[in-house]
Formats: sequence, C-alpha cells, structure tokens
Amino acid sequence: MKACNLHAVGDLRYEDVPVPALLPDEVMIRIQAAGICGSDIQRVFDKGTYHFPTIPGHEFAGVICEVNPGDEALLGKTAAVFPLIPCGKCAACQIGEYAQCADYDYYGSRRDGAFAEYIAVKKWNLVFVPDGISAEHAAMAEPCSVAIHALSQAGVNLGDTVIIFGAGTIGLLLAQAARGWGAGKVVLSDPDTAKLDFARNLGFQYCVDPKISNPAEYVKSVNEGRGADVAIEAAGVAAAAEGCLFAARTFGRVVLMGNPVKNMDISQKAYWEILRKQLVLKGTWNSSYNDVQNDWKLAVQCMEKKVFDLSKLITHRFELADCSRAFELARKRNEFWVKIMFVNKEGK
Ligand SMILES: [Zn+2]
Ligand SMILES: [Zn+2]
Repeated sequence: MKACNLHAVGDLRYEDVPVPALLPDEVMIRIQAAGICGSDIQRVFDKGTYHFPTIPGHEFAGVICEVNPGDEALLGKTAAVFPLIPCGKCAACQIGEYAQCADYDYYGSRRDGAFAEYIAVKKWNLVFVPDGISAEHAAMAEPCSVAIHALSQAGVNLGDTVIIFGAGTIGLLLAQAARGWGAGKVVLSDPDTAKLDFARNLGFQYCVDPKISNPAEYVKSVNEGRGADVAIEAAGVAAAAEGCLFAARTFGRVVLMGNPVKNMDISQKAYWEILRKQLVLKGTWNSSYNDVQNDWKLAVQCMEKKVFDLSKLITHRFELADCSRAFELARKRNEFWVKIMFVNKEGK
C-alpha cells in the first residue's frame, strides 16, 4: 500500500509499505480521511516520532474492510478510532481513565498511524459512526472529543459567558460546543485577524484581537460589566494564559488546554488575579473513553445534532501522494487553513 512514512525529522516519504498484518483483536480499516493535527506538524518537522520509520496520523476514519472470523458483522461499517492503546494494568486504566495511562501505545506516534491506505486497529478503539456522517467529519472526532473534554472540565452552565483564547481548530470546536451546550455569550480572542474573520463567518460575533483591545475589558463590555464565567486557554502561550486570568470573573473557572510552546511565565499582576478572585484552575488532557464518560460517543452525537459545523473547518484536502505539499502548507501557513485533511480515493 502507499503511505507517508516518517524516516527522520523532516524526512517524510510517500512510498510503498506492506499492508499491516491483521492480529486476532483487530480489524482492517481502509482509511478515507485523516486530518493533520498541530502535533503532526511538530512531529514531522521538529520532534520526530518515537522511532523511525513511523507513519504519522492519529485523526482518522474509514471503512472496515477486513475482519477475523466471527467479526463479519463489522464489515463495511464506518468508524473513527480512539488513537490511544492503554496498557490495561496501571491504576489509571483500572478506573478507565486511559488518557492517564502510565504505559500506553499510540497510533501515529508510537506505532504506525493513518497517513496510509490501510491500518489495522484494535476493535476496542473503534468508534462507530452512523450513516449520514461522512468519513471526513468522523476523522475530526479526535479534536471534537478533546474540545468536549475541555468543556466538561470547565463545567459550562446554561447562559455562561465563555471566552476562548486561540481561534485555531480546537478553539473553534470549543466555541461551537460551548454554543451547543447553552453558553450565553461565546467570545474568541486571537491576535490573528484571518482567524477572527473566519470565526465571524462561522457565526461568532464576539471576536477580539488582543493587539487592539484588552480581552478582559472586551468581555465586560459585552457582558454587562461582568467577567467571563469560563476562560479557556487554547493557544499554549503565556499571554493567553494571563488573558484567561484577567478575563475570568470572581470565582470563575479557567481551563488550561493548549500545549505550551515554551515557558508559560505569568506576571505577578496576573498571579494576583488567581488569589483575589479565587479562580478555579483546571488542566485538561486528551479525552475520556469509558462507559461513564465517553467524549468520543458524545462527539459523534454532537456531529449528528449539528453542534459541530465541520464542513467549513476542513479548508484543504490532499491525496497522500501530495504529503510534502500538504505539510509545507501546514508549516509555512502561506495560505490560511483550519483543518488540512488527507483523503483517499476509492481503494481496491
Ligand atoms: Zn490531534
Ligand atoms: Zn495503563
């Protein structure tokens, strides 16, 4: 089969690789869509995968095309895939909090992922998608789940004013989910004008450019003088984390989500905000995938209910053969993009 295989940092090759062998607890998926995540850009150009060569790609969906005897009922079903394979033994796994697993495997970073024609995945990781949801949308179940998980950490209540720092893919998904969950006002802050324009086009009227206006003042100006009930850091930069502390109201909740790009130093003035306003700070990581809290099933339900407006978020589509072009665009941003996706034409 064809795949985009990472041989070293900066050395992504479109090449022939063997179709993976199917293990007894697995099904084969013909991948139809696989999104490029911010973390993939870092892996390809800076950090690398855990060993080489590795096929990156952890946001994907496709059709089950080969199964072991006994699993024939799964053939032809469309599924997204929870990319984490937990050890099943550690304390976190014992309580079903697999994202906290002490010894996990991962499609697309620790083992081969989805920038390929086929992938063999564990049945346990399958998230089935009903008819009517395209594979492209299903491939966004991962970022949708991450957004849902972050929102559930915040405990968004009906009518809450929510400010999100960072209007990238996850920031926009957070905004859509917050709106769908009954938040009153949803405010997006980003220093990138193009991102704010895009957010406005999605129907988010409260957009603030921190280079021009102070986001905390802006929230108050649209919220009857009150700060935000919930502030979410979705950029991974210190200025956004500080922005959250200033924008949150007294007793407000702050959720820290963005992967930090460098040290997250905050000023003494911002630190006082935590104390004086008795802010609740909460970190969020990945998503929950168990019978009690399953952000993935919720993500699919939110897609069905059109809480997420995914069509507009997929701004670019490439075939695997064009992986170099796709990743150059992702890195250089010489064109505005939100979600870049690899799409596979009908397979054999
Ligand atoms: Zn991702
Ligand atoms: Zn574990």
